[in-house]
Amino acid sequence: MTTPRIYKTEAVVLRQRKLGEAGKIITLYTPNYGKLDAVAKGVRRPKSRLGGHLEVLTHTAVMLAQGRNLDTVTQAQTVESFAPLRADLHRLSRALYAAELVDRFSPEGAESYHVFQLLLATLRRLSTARKVDTVLRCLEMRLLSLAGFQPQLGRCVNCERALAAAPSYFSPAAGGVLCPSCGQEVAGARTLSLNALKVMRLLQSGSFAEVSRVRMNPALAREVEMHLRTYLIHVLERDVRSVAFIDRLRREDLWEPAAAPS
Ligand SMILES: [Zn+2]
Repeated sequence: MTTPRIYKTEAVVLRQRKLGEAGKIITLYTPNYGKLDAVAKGVRRPKSRLGGHLEVLTHTAVMLAQGRNLDTVTQAQTVESFAPLRADLHRLSRALYAAELVDRFSPEGAESYHVFQLLLATLRRLSTARKVDTVLRCLEMRLLSLAGFQPQLGRCVNCERALAAAPSYFSPAAGGVLCPSCGQEVAGARTLSLNALKVMRLLQSGSFAEVSRVRMNPALAREVEMHLRTYLIHVLERDVRSVAFIDRLRREDLWEPAAAPS
């Protein structure tokens, strides 16, 4: 899309970094221009009119002036601040992970209205949902599909035979599920329980409401998370940094009850 010299767009702030004495470079995800970096001058000054409207995870409406290298934010107005995300570390850690994942999946300037809508829906769900990790699994599966990396879960990716109602294998390198006999032959394939396969299929084809209704015990939730995470690392060719934040919060939660006197 050709960009006019001055243009207005909605955006979600994915991340920011310092620039010079008081400025920042803001990474925005927009519905029509995809991901873009823009300069925000003077936002680190306490009296800046822009600063509060360009915080990470804010849904904002911005006016941008096209520059030779980077565009400059001239106005910004918060549309949704997602305050509940900032008031709860568990929600915040998931939202930061969501923003980083969208960032990693999006090449600069590749427009995707669907990704923008998905990101907004994810931040809204993370603000209110009880099952915050289910929100992330939906995001992961949907982003994989939108990026053309939808894992094959219907038949064995190797021999293409239909899968029996039994444990099978999942292989990130093969791009999906392997039947028991093929799975044993493929290096890096890990066992996949039947319930985890069912949940992954539902994540792929069901709505968020349908997925939310599924009751998952912690072991099943961790299994689905582990398979999706290894697949994401394979596709992105590296880990997503914010995962460490979520893992640390979980470890602290697990540690506290054990340390309490019984
Ligand atoms: Zn097979």
